[in-house]
Amino acid sequence: MAEPRRLATESPSPSASWLGRRDVKNRIDVVELISVMRGLKPVTLQSIEKGFLPQLESFCSSHGLSCATAEPVAAGETGPIVKQGSCRVVISRAREMAEELLLCSVGMLERKGELLGYPGCCVKKWCSFVCETRDDSFDRYIFSSLGRSPAFPFCTNNAFNFASRLQQRHQPLLSALAERNRAAAFNAFLGNLANLHLISHVPCSYACERSMEQGKAVFDAVSAADSGMAAELRKLLSRPVLFFGDFRFLVFSGIADSNSIAYTALSEPHSLLDAGLVAKFSAGDSVSVDSKEIKVFKSGRLLHAIPKVHEDDGIILPFGP
Ligand SMILES: [Zn+2]
Repeated sequence: MAEPRRLATESPSPSASWLGRRDVKNRIDVVELISVMRGLKPVTLQSIEKGFLPQLESFCSSHGLSCATAEPVAAGETGPIVKQGSCRVVISRAREMAEELLLCSVGMLERKGELLGYPGCCVKKWCSFVCETRDDSFDRYIFSSLGRSPAFPFCTNNAFNFASRLQQRHQPLLSALAERNRAAAFNAFLGNLANLHLISHVPCSYACERSMEQGKAVFDAVSAADSGMAAELRKLLSRPVLFFGDFRFLVFSGIADSNSIAYTALSEPHSLLDAGLVAKFSAGDSVSVDSKEIKVFKSGRLLHAIPKVHEDDGIILPFGP
């Protein structure tokens, strides 16, 4: 693979003022943009509102980046769900790589993964999981990968990266949201989570060496560009997560092991988990999870025993520093 043209020396700090703006962070994955600018990834693929395109193109051209656009291929593919007025952008330091990614067909997962900067071990594991199980759901995959994950460092926390895994199977949910005019609220929810990650792929293990290296390098690049954003990322990604499924999770201020979480409070980011369930956890100070139940305790006294519907309904991801 040709080495991308290096421009890092020409832009030592990627315009912190524009990248750090809240309205920009809500519209594009700034973490990915910084990764491409710093040569840590060849290409990033995102879905944005068309109205945001002139700003983004102007930023890219003043930083020596190529910005190729294409219409969304399928409803619900990569990113916000407001399809009228959205487009896909492929940003790269080498235009030919951006164009190659747009031409990659559905079956070319390994080359696509390489262009997007995903470690080969992680791409292979994901492809074999999907082939074996015929299941591309993130919650099934992370449940299957827990045994391979002896550690959960903050730099490999990908629990909130939903925009990149909005798949066709979410279409009924997306259509229902659009019908109820809830699309804007859902997009705001996704926008709030858009930058909450350091790796944008699904790791083969949360202790995958190459994913940890990439996450650390991206963290250093974000720190150089926007130290406040880096500090916020580290804080939110270092907290234990109880994961129920796409768009439904709880984050705790506390510490966790593989079966339990001791916490002082629920933390941001908030998810779409129903309020009744959230209230049960906010009344407690510890949670334990086994194969049948999720139990909530307060000062050692059992408050709630919540039966699991599936074995992967309530997965503890014990992220920490
Ligand atoms: Zn890996």
